[in-house]
Amino acid sequence: MPAAGQRHASCTEKPVGCAYPTGTQVTTLCQRDVRADNSEVAWLWATCAECNREARRLAGVEP
Ligand SMILES: [Zn+2]
Repeated sequence: MPAAGQRHASCTEKPVGCAYPTGTQVTTLCQRDVRADNSEVAWLWATCAECNREARRLAGVEP
C-alpha cells in the first residue's frame, strides 16, 4: 500500500477490489495513519522495513 513516500502494509479493510484508492485513510502495520497513494509511481517507492517485518510475522514466515 503506497503512502507517505513508502510502500506500507495494513490490515485496514479495503473498500474496493485489491487496492486502496488514493486518499484512503489507513493505519499501517508500523502504526502510522496515512493516506493511500495509488498512483503508478507510488508503487516504485521503497518498501517500509517495519511493515515488511510485521507482514512476514503475521504471515507466519518468521517467528
Ligand atoms: Zn510502514
